Amino acid sequence: MSQKLQSVRGMNDILPDDALRREWLETQAAKCLRSYGYLPIQTPIVEPTPLFSRAIGEATDIVEKEMYSFTDALNGEPLTLRPEGTAGCARAVIQHGLANQHTLRLYYMGAMFRHERPQKGRYRQFHQIGAEAFGFPGPDVDAEQILLLARLWKELGVSLTLSINSLGQSEERTRHRKDLIAYLEKHEASLDEDARRRLYSNPLRIFDSKNQTTQAICADAPELPAYLGEASHAHFADVTLILQDEGVPFTVNPRMVRGLDYYNLTVFEWITNDLGAQGTVAAGGRYDGLVEQLGGKPTPACGFAIGVERLLELVGQNNTDETPDIYVVHQGEGEGARTLAFRAAEQLRDAGYRVILHCGGGSFKSQMKKADGSGANYAILIGGDEVAAKAALVKPLRDKEREQELVKLADLSHHFNNFTHRKN
Ligand code: ATP
Ligand code: MG
Repeated sequence: MSQKLQSVRGMNDILPDDALRREWLETQAAKCLRSYGYLPIQTPIVEPTPLFSRAIGEATDIVEKEMYSFTDALNGEPLTLRPEGTAGCARAVIQHGLANQHTLRLYYMGAMFRHERPQKGRYRQFHQIGAEAFGFPGPDVDAEQILLLARLWKELGVSLTLSINSLGQSEERTRHRKDLIAYLEKHEASLDEDARRRLYSNPLRIFDSKNQTTQAICADAPELPAYLGEASHAHFADVTLILQDEGVPFTVNPRMVRGLDYYNLTVFEWITNDLGAQGTVAAGGRYDGLVEQLGGKPTPACGFAIGVERLLELVGQNNTDETPDIYVVHQGEGEGARTLAFRAAEQLRDAGYRVILHCGGGSFKSQMKKADGSGANYAILIGGDEVAAKAALVKPLRDKEREQELVKLADLSHHFNNFTHRKN
């Protein structure tokens, strides 16, 4: 029995209306990123699996249970569909020696894959717009990335709140971790299963638990900020100072941890209450150890990623007008009318107009119905008489005051230039 073919669960088709909004969003984001000197980079969607287990961390949700990993059937290589963009970016920077001489500001846009339970704002194929700055020890670049996002939200007309924290350095986290484990061990019996499993592998992540009892236990747990040294505090204070100077409001959330192991010092999230449980629209932070951990020279770095689907939920309808300017209707014996129609359409496109050339034949009447339905302001008609006159009949479809006119083909784009605005 043949089964209906459907897209993979959690992986969605993006139909034209939505695709147009995404293109628009990507254009706005690229403009904003470029205004801060970020340049585009595109890395493969598939990477060697060890890249992610080394970069993101073995004991993270992503590596433990969310990756689409498979073995290349031809050469046995373990491969993974990228669950995020930072690891691939760092790999490319190392592979091509990009960070050897300079500092770098890079951005990417593209599909990411995580095997999660699909729900609103959470998909198995989703899209991120991300940025990574390599070679900057901060705190200036950390704050700059946050400002960049604040600017983007303003330009898009969305309102998000900023939460920030410092994860300190790994020695500081180690001391905290020791005390945290000791505290959690005392409450081990009451912790949920996930938290118990993470107790020794990744106790900081227990703060992220959605389980109420676990959360209540976490409320009295030792907090990381108390373990940070002077340098970490100073770094964080500088980030907050720049944000204050620039008038970007924030709240410090000492319990914020990120789901990826590579972060240190500054971490941040932009959050909304309008999307239910999936409220984090963008997240990022500093990852000074990652490049070295992946085999590169020590290179401090900071980055963020925006969840495109979540952001799109918040962005109002865009008002781009996709209707054509002109619809070309043509009919006639032989190829004369068709040849002229193609020539007229190409000429008008050269002049910047958006033109639909009627394809598929049919009577003038049925073609005119299509022209009307297309939303175009003008139809141009080419039949036997027009071929003989090397001209086209220009027919206004909306402006009833305006008369139809026979216009020489050579004058056609000039004719439109006089009274209509181009959309392209
Ligand atoms: P969450 O806590 O919601 O699972 P995360 O910490 O796993 O998020 P990151 O890895 O920091 O997310 O990714 C950055 C952003 O990408 C998130 O803030 C979110 O907007 C988006 N994102 C992450 N996972 C998904 C997904 N499965 N579907 C849609 N968007 C996602
Ligand atoms: Mg997640």
